[in-house]
Amino acid sequence: MLKYVDTDIVFQELPDEVTLAVNLSGCPCRCPGCHSKHLWEDGGRPFDEAAVEQMLSQHGDEISCISIMGGDAEPHEVNLIAASLRKHHPNLHIAWWSGRTLLSSDVNPDNFDYIKLGPYLRHLGPLRSPTTNQRLYHVEGGKLRDITSYFQRRSLTSA
Ligand code: SF4
Repeated sequence: MLKYVDTDIVFQELPDEVTLAVNLSGCPCRCPGCHSKHLWEDGGRPFDEAAVEQMLSQHGDEISCISIMGGDAEPHEVNLIAASLRKHHPNLHIAWWSGRTLLSSDVNPDNFDYIKLGPYLRHLGPLRSPTTNQRLYHVEGGKLRDITSYFQRRSLTSA
């Protein structure tokens, strides 16, 4: 079962989106240099359709996107939640933050608008670093278009 530790409304993780980020626990990725080791443990509250609806009843008017941060131990469950969101909230954008290098075959890209792939490697840096190994994709007609350069352009602009 997917579980979440906390949520946050963020403005910089995705282009032109106000995003409700849901931080899931039980991360199996074990990235060297992990910035969120508290998410390795299996704790928190169930992240299921009821929890999502509760979150949206609280924050639905404030956000344009919901991002599922983690869930790599159960990608099929992440996919089910995203499919339900797609069905019941067609105007809401949906993102998944995966620490894996490759997209799980249990996931239908069409259930998402954005997918971030790649473990966090401290020496290469996060998405805004020009040397990052991580990739952010926009899903267009079931295909993944790499939009990682958006972050590097913005980083240069704000430097
Ligand atoms: S994906 Fe990597 S950086 Fe993120 S919580 Fe898991 S181990 Fe840490």
